[in-house]
Amino acid sequence: MNKEIYLDGNATTAVLPAALRAAVFAMEERYGNPSSTHATGLKAKAVLDAARARACRLLGVGTGQLMFNSGATEGIQTVVLSALCAVRARRAAGERTGTLLVYGATEHKAVPESLAHWNVLLGLGLDLVPLPVDAGGCHDLEALRRLAPDAALVCTMAANNETGVISDLAGIAAALDGSAALWMVDCVQALGKLPLDLAATRIDYAPFSGHKLYAPKGIGMLYVRAGAPFTPLMKGGGQETGWRSGTENMAGIAALGAVLAALEDGVTFRSHAELHAFREQLANALRQALPGIVFNVPFDRALPTTLNFSVPGLSSKELLDLFDAAAVRVSAGSACSAAKAQPSYVLDAMGLPEWRSSSAVRLSFGPLMDAATVAEACARIARCGEALRRSGLLGDTTAARPDGLLQWTAGGHHTWLVLDAASGTCAAIDPHPALDERIDTLLRAHRYRLVARLFTQGDATWPAPEDCLAIGRWRLRRAATGKGRACYLLGPQGESPRHAFIGSAEPSSLAGVLPADLLLCPATEAQSALCTTLRAGPGKTSPAAMHLDAATLETLLREHPAALLVDVREPYEHAAAEPCIGPQAVSIPLSRLAGALPAWLAQAPRLPLVFFCQSGNRSARAAGCLRSLGYAEAFHLQGGVALS
Ligand code: PLP
Repeated sequence: MNKEIYLDGNATTAVLPAALRAAVFAMEERYGNPSSTHATGLKAKAVLDAARARACRLLGVGTGQLMFNSGATEGIQTVVLSALCAVRARRAAGERTGTLLVYGATEHKAVPESLAHWNVLLGLGLDLVPLPVDAGGCHDLEALRRLAPDAALVCTMAANNETGVISDLAGIAAALDGSAALWMVDCVQALGKLPLDLAATRIDYAPFSGHKLYAPKGIGMLYVRAGAPFTPLMKGGGQETGWRSGTENMAGIAALGAVLAALEDGVTFRSHAELHAFREQLANALRQALPGIVFNVPFDRALPTTLNFSVPGLSSKELLDLFDAAAVRVSAGSACSAAKAQPSYVLDAMGLPEWRSSSAVRLSFGPLMDAATVAEACARIARCGEALRRSGLLGDTTAARPDGLLQWTAGGHHTWLVLDAASGTCAAIDPHPALDERIDTLLRAHRYRLVARLFTQGDATWPAPEDCLAIGRWRLRRAATGKGRACYLLGPQGESPRHAFIGSAEPSSLAGVLPADLLLCPATEAQSALCTTLRAGPGKTSPAAMHLDAATLETLLREHPAALLVDVREPYEHAAAEPCIGPQAVSIPLSRLAGALPAWLAQAPRLPLVFFCQSGNRSARAAGCLRSLGYAEAFHLQGGVALS
């Protein structure tokens, strides 16, 4: 199977081998408690001191303080608590303080969430004000100048995690001139990518996170300018000069120390010029593979290690699935929000059109990147483009014409397309407006003529003189199912119908109206994710009975060599993937499953069907659908090919 190409460095990174060795050494050989006064403790303390000294040199900490903690989220809490406690103390002393908590509109969520949390917890009632950014993601310095006199704390970042946009820290410092506001700069994405000389600036606080630069997760640092207010988040044994109690994460500190040593040696990591060249190569590969691609920030304002782009007509989910199938790991926006399919608040704040913010993809890499990996990534990007072209999704007219029944889902609504490749005619049932463009692209790319747009509710115009409409080899019949409601029965010419498009009717309400074994194709996911019948039930076996792992799959294939392996990923994912389960796998995307059901259900004897996809979600739906229809020999690969 393809080696994975990891292009999600802004989410996290692998651990540098030297860092891994340093962590193991710390655990095996320097396991003492650095607070102990005996020799074992002193040896551990030497590791701690060396890592701190390196960090202080590299970041230009000067007379400021640098403490180790668990990461940037903890650092941000500590900063917010410190700044707000300072406001409270000044208020108590009758001194004037700022009333605004200003934060960049594109900050990591840890910033506004912490501000809101501690503001409420401490009962301060300060106003949270997002600082706008321009279309290129840079802070509105004029707005900051206006807010500065009333600001208690200003939070900005050195570089953005979604877009890589580099902040104008000198411009921000100038806008804050004369203001008593404290200033935090989130330096998470800057470490190892931008020069930092903290004590030479007016920055009061700077949090860092080890796992964004080849150290393990759970280790971070916080810079505090000499004289800046400080309140510990954790009290206890007095470690870190009393600023952060708790026995130090020595393995993490040793590993971070090794990463900092690599930064200092000047040879481990790629130079800026090399990183720029890598970005150019990747951007060119993307331009060639994905026609119409737009990069969401100008390159000259961003870190060379981050590319953020959108492709017209393709959602982030589709692009992510495509890249994932080719074993190229990218993300949609930030890793924290990747599980929720939401538009990017960062791109929204930049005022980009909705389609760009909801379809954005982030490709990011770290400064350890090498030429061979970039070349392989470019080759796989080209393969993804080719797979998309062959699927016809990009409107390419050379792609093979799709045929049969197609189910597309948008916002919980199913749209059904009946396609007859031989005649080039098709019909759409309950087409959802969100899919209009996609349907148009498909029709144009494959020179299909839409002979009917049918709706199961309202006054649909029926384009045929009788109740039967011909779509090539298919026959569609109209049947009234209630007031203002119709359903459409579909079958091959001369045969009885196999599918019924029932709109939003409750399947049980159709008992006695439709034959019990007709496959009911609903208009919403709430009724059924795929399709059902009047006889359908939860199946006689428990859901766990359909789950296979690598070992049980092997046993099943040994016992049933004729079992059919069904890849339910979309055709472009299937095409972009290397055969990983075996060459005998067939591609029947979930969107085509309804069309494949009649033949499977009519089989005698029934072959075991093993569905698989990338994560196991889609294949679970396919196997669950078959089992609910009484096909007990349906299975799926739990965890998908990602875990196999
Ligand atoms: N700030 C930025 C800019 C980040 O990218 C991240 C991580 O995604 C964080 C803060 C939070 O860092 P951590 O994972 O160390 O808590």
